[in-house]
Amino acid sequence: MSILKIRTIGDPILEQIAKPIEKIDDSIIELATNMIDTMIAGDGVGLAAPQVGHSIRMLVVDLGMITEGEIPTIFINPEFLEMEDECEMDEGCLSVPDVYAIVKRPKRIKLKYLDIDGREQILEDEEYLSRVLQHEIDHLDGKLFVGKLEKDEKKRIKKKLLKIKPDGWIPESKKK
Ligand SMILES: [Zn+2]
Repeated sequence: MSILKIRTIGDPILEQIAKPIEKIDDSIIELATNMIDTMIAGDGVGLAAPQVGHSIRMLVVDLGMITEGEIPTIFINPEFLEMEDECEMDEGCLSVPDVYAIVKRPKRIKLKYLDIDGREQILEDEEYLSRVLQHEIDHLDGKLFVGKLEKDEKKRIKKKLLKIKPDGWIPESKKK
């Protein structure tokens, strides 16, 4: 078991578009296992590979935190097939420690992904799992939740954000 170092806001890898995984080999399985350990040790409900320094399209979600009896699950090359409606929910992130804010996102998702055995899976959800997956897949596209906030929320978390990132932070999409 290895706990990996979590990259925090301002680290360039968090703003890169991660590459699809072509082959699920032993190194991918080992990374996934270590990501699960790291997520659990950090009390997170999800963790994406770029957050631990690997710009590849893999994430883990602790389904046990969402539904009793479930176990941590690995999602490889996830892709949205459908997104519908909209809702607001409080979000936090292991890469943006101690900052929580309300984010507006689609409510219902339909997603396809590969499991750790390389089998294609389809998942539909409109509850908390939908939210977690959207947040984690954003990491694969180089986006952080603090870049998605409405004006009031942005204002509210500004001080806390400056504590983590004293020279300020501008989302990659807003940079010229
Ligand atoms: Zn996050």
